[in-house]
Amino acid sequence: MSWEEFKPESFKSAETYTLKHLDAVMLHFFEDCVNCGLCEVNCPYTAAGEEYGPVEKAEPLRRIYRPHAQILPKLFPWLFGANSPKSKEELDKWVEKAYRCTNCGLCYVTCPFGIHSGEMIKVLRSYLARTGRIPTLLKMMIDTEASNTLLENEGLRKVWEGMIDRIKAEGVEFNKKNTKYLYLTSLAEVMMTPGSVLGAVKFFKKLNLDWTMPDKPLSMRAPIGSLAGDDEATTIVARRIHEYIKEINPEYVVLSDGGYPYTFFRFDLPRIVGEKPSYKVIHIVELVGEALREGRLKFKNAEEKVTWHSPCKMGRIGGLIDEPVEVLSKVSSNLVKLKSHGVFSKCCGGGGSIACIVPPTQQVMEKVMGVSIPITGSEKVFLDKLYRDMLVAGKAKVDEIRESGASTVVTACIGCFHTMGMTTQAFGVNVKLKMLSEFLAENLE
Ligand code: SF4
Ligand code: SF4
Repeated sequence: MSWEEFKPESFKSAETYTLKHLDAVMLHFFEDCVNCGLCEVNCPYTAAGEEYGPVEKAEPLRRIYRPHAQILPKLFPWLFGANSPKSKEELDKWVEKAYRCTNCGLCYVTCPFGIHSGEMIKVLRSYLARTGRIPTLLKMMIDTEASNTLLENEGLRKVWEGMIDRIKAEGVEFNKKNTKYLYLTSLAEVMMTPGSVLGAVKFFKKLNLDWTMPDKPLSMRAPIGSLAGDDEATTIVARRIHEYIKEINPEYVVLSDGGYPYTFFRFDLPRIVGEKPSYKVIHIVELVGEALREGRLKFKNAEEKVTWHSPCKMGRIGGLIDEPVEVLSKVSSNLVKLKSHGVFSKCCGGGGSIACIVPPTQQVMEKVMGVSIPITGSEKVFLDKLYRDMLVAGKAKVDEIRESGASTVVTACIGCFHTMGMTTQAFGVNVKLKMLSEFLAENLE
């Protein structure tokens, strides 16, 4: 369905699907907001407009929900803001709100009642996906990933095979069963931050570990459909990944991307496939930290002033807050903390697929894939505004980086890496960005 279309007949089934998937936790999110506004202060997108506060963005979902749960909104929907979109413009507004959320979880940790508006907005995306509203580039990637045809594109295949050739030269045995460590990277990581992948490989070799990795990408990153609420595509990809892991039968699945794949593999995948994992998901920094403590690794001292940007999924949601700092402090005696750190670390502004669909990324993707992405007039308006708002949302992080005086910013999420590349450049802050495994590997003794 084109971005220009407005099909009210799709709303009913979208609504039924959405309501069917609301659990007790989600109902608490719906019912218990007292409108105190505390979450607004922390949401990166409030800076781009009051209408992008967490409660305002979750409001369309509440509008769908109210007439099903409460008698007065059922009788007088117009009085209680309880209805589906009535026009294309209104639907556009809903999409705009849904794509002003990075699912960073800052609203969740701020709210005195533990309401995670980001999770509600994720459900709103699922509703919108059923009305045909997924941004075109995202939809293209979702379909390609779900149909397992990522490498049919010549540009993407060249990128992946180029990396596989380099890793092969390191002597790895691909798809080896019953190894202790299964390293999962992705096409996106290989394409956007190849140094992160090569850095991880260097550690497996240096530590002489029993490890393997797939010779084909299992997904774009983790299932990219999960970012757009495309539950069918997400389930297809999740099952495929699950079957692969089961076949390899590792003790540990190791990631170097600490963005949404980190929480997806740890929390979402077992839930989607309905099986308790027989393996543990860890980040490469945990392996490095352990080896350091046991004296199996040594680093040179990096003289540059370094700071750490904690990805929301790895830090706030995943709980890996101290480990990267501990390891980085062994590499640089000049490590400085950003103003916000730990659970309240500010979001880069580009998560939840935002950085992957804004115009500069589209241009990169068009070049790599050798295709023209068919964007309609109103989608272009949507994306141009999204890009401007993303820069506004990311400014607080850029200000922290500037104030820290660091010359190198290390992170572990390819989305954060890409977003901060765009935001630091837009605000004229000249810093080097590095992925954690790459930075650590560069400083190995
Ligand atoms: S998850 Fe983050 S971006 Fe989304 S509403 Fe909450 S604070 Fe805002
Ligand atoms: S902090 Fe919680 S209770 Fe307050 S407005 Fe936000 S969601 Fe509602």
